[in-house]
Amino acid sequence: MESTDTILQVQGLSVSFGALRAVDSVDMAVRRSGVTSLIGPNGAGKSTLFNLISGAIRPSAGKVLFNGVNVTGWSPHKLLRAGMARSFQITNLFFDMSVRENLRLASQILEPAGKAWWPLSRSHRAAERVEEQLERFSLQGRADALAGELSHGEQRRLEIAVALASGPQLLMLDEPTQGMSHGDTQEAAQLIKTLSSEVGILLVEHDVNLVMDVSDHIVVLSQGKKLAEGRPADVRANPQVQAAYFGG
Ligand code: ADP
Ligand code: MG
Repeated sequence: MESTDTILQVQGLSVSFGALRAVDSVDMAVRRSGVTSLIGPNGAGKSTLFNLISGAIRPSAGKVLFNGVNVTGWSPHKLLRAGMARSFQITNLFFDMSVRENLRLASQILEPAGKAWWPLSRSHRAAERVEEQLERFSLQGRADALAGELSHGEQRRLEIAVALASGPQLLMLDEPTQGMSHGDTQEAAQLIKTLSSEVGILLVEHDVNLVMDVSDHIVVLSQGKKLAEGRPADVRANPQVQAAYFGG
């Protein structure tokens, strides 16, 4: 399935925790634009697969190809520099820093440290990008507030903005709407859809309705294995998926 449309390819990826094969020979691909979602029952291995792809844990077998390059075993930081950004199920914000400072810090991640020649125009551009992100994520009015003072919905928005600040090609989101109100979830879904025209998105999500609504392609995991994949309607209609996941 090698194609220029594909930003990420996972081949035979596996990892065990003791006797448990948490991720078992999974093959999948993520396109350069649009939303690819990973769903499955609790304990299916979604977060583990996400952590394998983003470099937080190392696979015991298999490969991760990003832009056709074998990035298996790369650190999260090296992957970020290559264009793969992730947000965390557990927040990665600095609560005692302002919203603007959080964004500024995130956008500086890619600037080479201590390089005197680093052009001023680049820094100006970074500052402009921070202001653009504030506006885009409806956080202009909260720019000087501490991240810890934001509402839950605002914090989740800031997390996505932080993940995007480095200008990635692939954005990985693990349960971005966890703990959100219905209204905030709807807003987040809209935002994810909008963003997916510019950046490939890999979404791990518990909320099936949200997944059906925003995804272009869905991969279903069950007990560490890929059970099915396809367009939302096909996945929903798949009897195996219904049995394993929707309990029908
Ligand atoms: P999901 O995100 O789909 O709910 P996880 O990937 O978190 O599932 O977990 C898959 C399985 O691996 C579960 O049985 C879980 O208990 C187990 N698991 C996850 N992380 C670890 C770990 N660090 N050590 C041991 N077992 C783990
Ligand atoms: Mg999980």
